[in-house]
Amino acid sequence: MEICPVCNKEVDQSIFSSVIDGVVYRFCCERCQRNFTAEPRKFMNCCEDSTDR
Ligand SMILES: [Zn+2]
Repeated sequence: MEICPVCNKEVDQSIFSSVIDGVVYRFCCERCQRNFTAEPRKFMNCCEDSTDR
């Protein structure tokens, strides 16, 4: 299950996705995608986000 990095909601369908620095990010909605791509650092954690695995 992907988590939207902007609002931390679970993303059911990976419709909205962006590749930044070779990493694919998935978003719950277009607004989150735009916000993230506008300022990726604002939403990125300093360390790699732990995927639930
Ligand atoms: Zn979101």
